[in-house]
Amino acid sequence: MSILKVARMGHPVLRARARALERTDIKKPMVQRLIDDMIDTMTEYRGVGLAAPQVHESLRLFVAVPGADDTAEPDGEPGVFINPEITPVGSDSVDGWEGCLSIPDIRGRVPRAREIIVRALDRKGHPFELFPRDFPARVIQHETDHLDGVLFFDRMRSFESLTFLDEYARYWTKD
Ligand code: ZN
Repeated sequence: MSILKVARMGHPVLRARARALERTDIKKPMVQRLIDDMIDTMTEYRGVGLAAPQVHESLRLFVAVPGADDTAEPDGEPGVFINPEITPVGSDSVDGWEGCLSIPDIRGRVPRAREIIVRALDRKGHPFELFPRDFPARVIQHETDHLDGVLFFDRMRSFESLTFLDEYARYWTKD
């Protein structure tokens, strides 16, 4: 197990469009080890999701905590999403707080589609489909954005809600 270094805002890798993984590449030890290390890194830094560009690998891959992948099993395996494709369901958009391991100690309110369909490959290269809504849908939209070089600031309607973590805890958690 390895804890990987997380790229912070300003590093160009966070602004690049990541490349898709070939199905034959997914089974390679290098990719499997990267997935394990990303899960360890996400756990170490208490993230709810982590995308490969955040650990300096420009690949269309992210991991998410159990529950964030809509399996509703808090003790389950973390979700692994390779080459994800997202389709919003309906036009319902909800504002919610987000943070990012690449933008430490900052929170802001971001509008996201309430409900989405996500199609991706798992770590064995098998296709799957999920229909998450609310928090899991938010996590998956945030992580998929990382694969296109998009950060949550880019999605904010206004920067008025931008806050440091201490001030968030002090003034905003009653929300
Ligand atoms: Zn992020």
